[in-house]
Amino acid sequence: MADTVADSRSNRAAVQATNDDASASKLSCIKKGYMKDDYIHLFVRRPVRRSPIINRGYFARWAALRKLLLQFLETDMNGNQTKKQILSLGAGFDTTYFQLQDEGKAPHLYVEVDFKEVTSKKAAKIETSSQLRDKISPTASVSREKGEVLSDHYKLLPVDLCNINNLNDIIMLADMDPSLPTFIIAECVLIYLDPDSSSAVVGWASKTFSTAVFFLYEQIHPEDAFGQQMIKNLESRGCGLLGIYATPTLHAKEKLFLDQGWQRAIAWDMLRVYTDFIEAQERRRIERLELFDEFEEWHMMQEHYCVAYAINDAMGLFGDFGFPISRSSSSSTWPNPSSA
Ligand code: SAM
Repeated sequence: MADTVADSRSNRAAVQATNDDASASKLSCIKKGYMKDDYIHLFVRRPVRRSPIINRGYFARWAALRKLLLQFLETDMNGNQTKKQILSLGAGFDTTYFQLQDEGKAPHLYVEVDFKEVTSKKAAKIETSSQLRDKISPTASVSREKGEVLSDHYKLLPVDLCNINNLNDIIMLADMDPSLPTFIIAECVLIYLDPDSSSAVVGWASKTFSTAVFFLYEQIHPEDAFGQQMIKNLESRGCGLLGIYATPTLHAKEKLFLDQGWQRAIAWDMLRVYTDFIEAQERRRIERLELFDEFEEWHMMQEHYCVAYAINDAMGLFGDFGFPISRSSSSSTWPNPSSA
């Protein structure tokens, strides 16, 4: 497969390795008791202990996604549950599907895509680990050569997100139904793509799914000293944040979605997500886990990450979905008044 990450700031292997970092960080959190994940250890060769600030940051990221995902899964139509799908873009070694299975909350269909190098390793692990294998149907076809898992309710497929035609193929190969309510996850993924490719993914998703939530978690604010350092650190490892200058602010993230046809979009930085969205009880619990005195850096770091989500609501399911509405915050809607 051609190397489509054609920018001197970025190389494909380094971008894929960000997945190993994410997995190691999740495992570090699990060992400290921030959250539960019975599977991620299977994907981490060398466990590491992260600093309290990194653990807390990962917890916040995990808790925000989990809360929005559960809201989506619990949404019903006049009291009737509808079939739902999740599509995770650049899923890496994420184990949410296996956890949802354990919790009895897995959707009708869960589809994961990533570069073939990554999906091959994940398929191999699913094939050889009974803990994972037991969570997919016994008739599943698993191929580490193709980087593919095809089971009734879980599919893993190789894709380069820079090629939209690949995404259309995924719908067919994974047997997704574009009319079903769909939750799309892009957690620290689109920011590694060039801006045209990430807009194309966002636009493709809006055109494809009429009842959907698109969840995005990634960096913002490249312009200040902290942002510059963050970019430099990643570039020195070959994982340039190619998308950050095209969508440098919360407003720009919302505009990205609205310009690409989504009906509603809202973006909050992680400081606000942490204080106003993540459950207070959970915050109190995790704040007791480790000694923590890096408050200034914590604030700065959290201001440089955001959650943005966009909604298409043809079925009228998502009236109450998402962050709490306060007078100072309302989601942007199409047409975007500030882009006029
Ligand atoms: N979403 C997972 C999580 O949060 O644990 C993994 C995040 S990791 C930081 C970024 C992932 O995006 C990697 O697994 C990488 O291979 C994938 N990725 C980046 N660019 C991609 C592309 N063009 N096509 C497919 N996957 C891509």
